[in-house]
Amino acid sequence: MLKDTHHSNLWQASAPPPPHTEPLSGNAVADVAIIGAGYTGLSAALHLAQAGLRPVVLEAREIGHGGSGRNVGLVNAGMWVMPEDLMETLGESWGMTLISALGQGPATVFDLIERHAIDCEAERNGTLHLAVGASGYVELGQRERQWQALGAPVTRLDPDAAARLIGSDAFAGALLDRRAGTIQPLAYARGLARAALELGAVVHTSTPVTGADHADGKWTLRTPSGTLTAPWVIVATNAYTGLERGFPFAAQSQELTMLPFFQVATAPLSSNVAGTILPERQGCWDTRAVMTSLRKDRAGRLIFGSVGALDGFARGTQEAFARRSLEHIFAGIEIPPFEHVWHGQIGMTGDALPKFHAYGPNAIGVNGFNGRGIAPGTVFGRAMARMIAYGEDMILPSAPIGKARFPRLRTRFYRAGSQALHFISGRI
Ligand SMILES: Cc1cc2nc3c(=O)[nH]c(=O)nc-3n(C[C@H](O)[C@H](O)[C@H](O)COP(=O)(O)OP(=O)(O)OC[C@H]3O[C@@H](n4cnc5c(N)ncnc54)[C@H](O)[C@@H]3O)c2cc1C
Repeated sequence: MLKDTHHSNLWQASAPPPPHTEPLSGNAVADVAIIGAGYTGLSAALHLAQAGLRPVVLEAREIGHGGSGRNVGLVNAGMWVMPEDLMETLGESWGMTLISALGQGPATVFDLIERHAIDCEAERNGTLHLAVGASGYVELGQRERQWQALGAPVTRLDPDAAARLIGSDAFAGALLDRRAGTIQPLAYARGLARAALELGAVVHTSTPVTGADHADGKWTLRTPSGTLTAPWVIVATNAYTGLERGFPFAAQSQELTMLPFFQVATAPLSSNVAGTILPERQGCWDTRAVMTSLRKDRAGRLIFGSVGALDGFARGTQEAFARRSLEHIFAGIEIPPFEHVWHGQIGMTGDALPKFHAYGPNAIGVNGFNGRGIAPGTVFGRAMARMIAYGEDMILPSAPIGKARFPRLRTRFYRAGSQALHFISGRI
């Protein structure tokens, strides 16, 4: 687990305040107990409340404490895995079900934002997957072919067309996905919570789940300030599962390798420069194996991210790498000072696909979004709610809990490797 710090997270500085919530106190009951107030848990709560059930969310810290309050804010369609590879792994029937649900993921997110008037800097102008070199351009061609075969509005742009949208000719082209867009991620999480509360859900913050018993067809979850009893449990703790000692559903974290990812945000760009960099505000990421991300927020800050943590000496290395990268991409433009820097951890699975688990009778959860959880978290939260409320089929087959190979070693490798790479990158 990364040091539990947000450093100076831009999203915390610019999100509307969270709705009022309090810790659990005494012994409460619910129809569905949900553990974790990120997109997955909050979407489940919202859709359960909409179906007339009583969901209660228990959150160890605050709304959006995990990935949901730290991410880049790219609302993407599908997973990283290309559609044909996904179908090969899951088989055609499950593969098509998942591709269809996640292909419509951004529409689900932006519809919720509109319906519940969530104030979260939503922009639906597409996203750009940036080609690094000729091999990156070829990879984007494969993605374009596979998505177009499914009827998706995804277009590969040549270097000139890409340069116009990026404001830089540093890339060999880009893939424009018109289904996608960007949001202020913490504001979206807080907005989902507010919408769920308005529909009758209950959210208790500062309420870590530290134990669970199952008897007479009901779960009783234990927390330091009370208990919650419900026939159903949704586990939505994902890559932040290791926060609390004694967490009864911790086994899922064994299958995740934690990938650290940091971001920096500049002071707002001056008005004469702001119009030339990402003029249509698409969010971007590139085809490198050690990927970087790039976007603007509504105030015109430039936000750059890459693999790596900010612990100790790493922070200086990562900030210097971010500055060199931005100066290379936007050569000749003065990059303003960094005002925010923060990091988070991404839960990666062996086949880069999410996992749906049953942890016991009527205890379910999905985890392992592999850095693509805004739309999937929202969609899987809704799917679990519909399964409980209406008996609908899940959109992913249930899998036994796996075990990642050497997860701690690989996490350390990602941290040290990204730091070493970013230390030398751009210097030689
Ligand atoms: C730096 C970074 C960049 C990313 N960029 C993108 C992006 O651009 N686009 C995208 O789609 N995805 C992105 N992701 C992934 C995305 O943020 C996650 O997949 C998504 O937020 C997961 O949501 P979740 O609700 O499943 O889990 P989380 O948001 O992680 O929520 C889990 C919650 O469980 C709580 N919890 C843990 N243990 C307990 C306990 N014992 N009791 C009670 N509560 C507990 C935690 O405090 C936390 O709030 C990124 C992730 C990171 C870290």
